[in-house]
Amino acid sequence: METWIDIAENSDFSIHNLPFGIFVRDGRGTPGVAIGDQIIDLHAASKLGQFDSLDFDKAVFEAEILNPFIATGKSTWSGLRQILQDALCDQGSILHEFKSKILVDRLSAEMRVPVSIGDYTDFYSSIEHATNVGKMFRPDNPLLPNWKHIPVGYHGRSSSIVISGTDIKRPKGQTLPPDADKPIYGPSKRMDMELEMAFIIGKPTALGETVSTENAEDHIFGKVIFNDWSARDIQKWEYVPLGPFLGKNFGSSISPWIVTMDALEPFRCESVTQDPEVLPYLKTNGSNNFDINLEVDLSTEEGNTTTICRSNFKYMYWSMAQQLAHHTANGCNLNIGDMMASGTISGKEKNSYGSLLELSWGGKENIDLNDGTQRTFIQDNDSVTIRAWCEKEGKRVGFGSCIGKILPAD
Ligand code: MN
Repeated sequence: METWIDIAENSDFSIHNLPFGIFVRDGRGTPGVAIGDQIIDLHAASKLGQFDSLDFDKAVFEAEILNPFIATGKSTWSGLRQILQDALCDQGSILHEFKSKILVDRLSAEMRVPVSIGDYTDFYSSIEHATNVGKMFRPDNPLLPNWKHIPVGYHGRSSSIVISGTDIKRPKGQTLPPDADKPIYGPSKRMDMELEMAFIIGKPTALGETVSTENAEDHIFGKVIFNDWSARDIQKWEYVPLGPFLGKNFGSSISPWIVTMDALEPFRCESVTQDPEVLPYLKTNGSNNFDINLEVDLSTEEGNTTTICRSNFKYMYWSMAQQLAHHTANGCNLNIGDMMASGTISGKEKNSYGSLLELSWGGKENIDLNDGTQRTFIQDNDSVTIRAWCEKEGKRVGFGSCIGKILPAD
């Protein structure tokens, strides 16, 4: 595919990608598609007739969120993506003729959370992560008996999910200091991040309905990078018996561009072998993972940057299809815009651990930074950047980045 737009060879936003997001134009949230260093304004392109051949209500592009567009259904998302791919390769297209009205500079654009997220679930689906964390608390019995039978998860707080670039204030909370017999209240001393990805529901279900693993991906609109900021000391004191609560819900960050399942299809790969065998409702054909490279950078206040983790989405023990089938196995409904996150994505090697908790082995080992300083957990004014991208046979499909900076507590 030869496009008339200049795109850097290593751009995440190639002609093979075309992810959807919400950018700000004239003070309004506007649906757009990223291409190279530009954004296609879908509302402007639609008004000029670029999508006339596709039958859907064009008023969806007047909304300041993507939910109405997503509700038009998979054939519309795929059809629109195809029209854009063709138009980007055709100098006679409406897009080319009116490019000065339709294209906007991506690098200076302000981005917003692209969907109204009704419900958010966080899974715990990396066996390396679950084993590492389990080992710190239960050296002889790291994985709990349910772990290989159930994609373990919990319901999180959707309204504190923020767009990449939003600062996060260090949370205060109740913790039990080491060797103390009474808890204290104050700023978290064990501020952490979690390298995750999340998928966004594109097709709803009614209460009482179940979704099979085979049909699960039809319900997914696309994926983003997700950073599940975690205050480990608050989490440790509060999590028994009902799981994560205030150690997690003070803020989570997502990347602005939703990469569609169509764009990810060439990067599908084999699932991890599951032993023991899972129950029939969780069985898949075995190719439900995706080869997505992941990197985490930690940048100090002075601007020194160290890559602290290199991982891959393909390490996930439980696939998105299994997570979604399990989520609906009891008849729990799905709504457009719901977000389901993977859980921390760790690999086998130490440099592929997706949290500082694991990289510093519970705060016992220093993580060396390029400027000669060390970390066990995140310091005030440190920034964390997660990047994600697929690459195969000269095709690159990336997610851009998800950035967040930890500000001091009040
Ligand atoms: Mn998490």
